[in-house]
Amino acid sequence: MTTIALVQALQQQKAFFATGKTRELAFRKDMLQRLATAIAQEEESITQALAEDFHKPAFETYATEIAIVLSEIKFILKHLDKWARPRKVKSSFLNFPSKDYIYPEPYGISLVIGAWNYPFQLTLSPLIGSMAAGGCTFLKPSELTPATSQVIAHLVEKHFPAEYVMVVQGGPEVSQELLQLSFDKIFFTGSTAVGKIVAQAAASQLIPVTLELGGKSPCLVDETANLEVAAQRIVWGKYLNAGQTCVAPDYVLVQESVQRPLLEQLQKTITQFYTASPQQSQDYARIINDRHFERLQKLLQASKVYFGGQTDASQRYMAPTLLTDVTWEQPIMQEEIFGPLLPVLPFKTLPEALQQITQREKPLALYFFSNDQAAQEMVLAQTSSGGACINDTISHLANPHLPFGGVGTSGQGNYHGKASFLAFSHQKSVLKKPFWPEVNLRYPPYQDKLNWMKKAFDWL
Ligand code: NAD
Repeated sequence: MTTIALVQALQQQKAFFATGKTRELAFRKDMLQRLATAIAQEEESITQALAEDFHKPAFETYATEIAIVLSEIKFILKHLDKWARPRKVKSSFLNFPSKDYIYPEPYGISLVIGAWNYPFQLTLSPLIGSMAAGGCTFLKPSELTPATSQVIAHLVEKHFPAEYVMVVQGGPEVSQELLQLSFDKIFFTGSTAVGKIVAQAAASQLIPVTLELGGKSPCLVDETANLEVAAQRIVWGKYLNAGQTCVAPDYVLVQESVQRPLLEQLQKTITQFYTASPQQSQDYARIINDRHFERLQKLLQASKVYFGGQTDASQRYMAPTLLTDVTWEQPIMQEEIFGPLLPVLPFKTLPEALQQITQREKPLALYFFSNDQAAQEMVLAQTSSGGACINDTISHLANPHLPFGGVGTSGQGNYHGKASFLAFSHQKSVLKKPFWPEVNLRYPPYQDKLNWMKKAFDWL
């Protein structure tokens, strides 16, 4: 689309928003329901598109792209009446007599920029928040998953007018153009590097922004953990989507005394999950493109392989791989891996491991496997991360009661469930007064009213 066409499309959405239609609760619910029906109807084409884009297994597509979005709609529909209505709060004695409220109102027209690794969910889930809040939306899905982006565009065009939701396809240049326009809210999912570009563009127009970014999410295992169960949960979280998950365990820090048995369990589990030749497995995805494949290949070549390590560039296949003897100075420990390479590093004491984590940027997720409750609380208290699981990986993001988002360089703001509604809403503070009685303590001439005012503050 040309810049002029984008500007016109935005004006159309602004005009539609100004009619007030999108703020009507019945309209919002109707649109959410329509979206759910459309997704259910398109299940087959969504699954095919993701398989075409990077061999995503049908099971993973259903669980992590379709079901998660449908359950989000269901959850929001169940609670929207309550969230959307004005909420009465206590009034201040100083304003007597008054009644005070919080009125949630939609920001207006939102720009959602999505990432490729869960291309359907990461674009549609923010859309649900924007619809629930009562706004209009521009969606810019990732250019790296063209088949899925096409399905999203088709689905939106078929079921929604462009003045309400529209899809703009393209890469960074299109994002850059969109970022010049005057949206009321920007919701970005992607890398920390691009997140900074988006934040700067938003700041130049003072547009509120949510940034869902990445980072190196650590996974700690101490000697009290059940290693067999820990290995299953780590292997699942790491190799799901071939490691291309923002909250995948990036690396494992394991207590020295159990490093060897954990490695054995991890190896055994990989074979159980993906057979002895994962390349033949229908349950294992591929690397998204050649650029990422080559990046991962370089990291792999500079590392010591404990298990796995096979690659096939023609299919962008990289085996589920365990790496040992890794140091913090190696490139693999300097950047988010975002692929099926799992460095396993030993630690002697928990404080030593925590020091390694807290010296670095705040991660999007942190995982701790331990049977020691005091140690669990210590890890939660002494580290900062977007989210965390004790004795599991990834699963916290599937609970709509838990806000999902990063902290520091892993992001700002959050979404899912009520947090999605709030991400696209302004909380307007409203004070209502009757004309009578009129308390004139605050008006000039002040004369001896200062003493009264001081007494009033003392009573508070
Ligand atoms: P990316 O930052 O390269 O791209 C994300 C989006 O930004 C795409 O739509 C892309 O077209 C656009 N973009 C790219 N360069 C741009 C530029 N210079 N200016 C404006 N827009 C630009 O990220 P990606 O490779 O698609 O996704 C992987 C990253 O996203 C990883 O770091 C991962 O951890 C993170 N991620 C985070 C979450 C989360 O929920 N926190 C979820 C998925 C992925």
